[in-house]
Amino acid sequence: MPHPCLTCGACCTQYRVAFHWMESDEVTPGGVPHELTQVLDPHRLCMRGTLSKPVYCVALDAEIGVYSRCSIHPNRPSVCREVDASWEYGKASPQCDKARVAHGMPALTLADWRWRDEADNDDDHPDDNGNSPAPPQAPIAA
Ligand code: SF4
Ligand code: SF4
Repeated sequence: MPHPCLTCGACCTQYRVAFHWMESDEVTPGGVPHELTQVLDPHRLCMRGTLSKPVYCVALDAEIGVYSRCSIHPNRPSVCREVDASWEYGKASPQCDKARVAHGMPALTLADWRWRDEADNDDDHPDDNGNSPAPPQAPIAA
């Protein structure tokens, strides 16, 4: 069974994805591709496509609910790395739940992660294995 994020992508269409300008690859090698960002305020950038509604991150390659891929996964913003899918690490994620429900999908449950237990995958953070997209953090006051 694939990681649930690989057939979802909902959270990349719901929230403003804002982060400090230092994360841009203009100033930090390997950072977020600058051309995919825009200025939010003197201290922050945000991913293009997430500043106003309808939100759809410019880096998202997805058909929501069918397949999903972050096209800049190794270079995605820190906020995208910090939010886990619901119950991936033993607790619900309101951002994940809200995004999925907004797209008519059920919130994840513990049952959605049994495949990983059966595979004996106890990685600290399988999202960093390069095989799955990460959700963005909660919106910065839309
Ligand atoms: S974190 Fe939740 S909403 Fe985001 S892609 Fe994964 S399953 Fe979907
Ligand atoms: S994980 Fe990738 S596609 Fe999703 S919001 Fe972050 S940068 Fe955009």
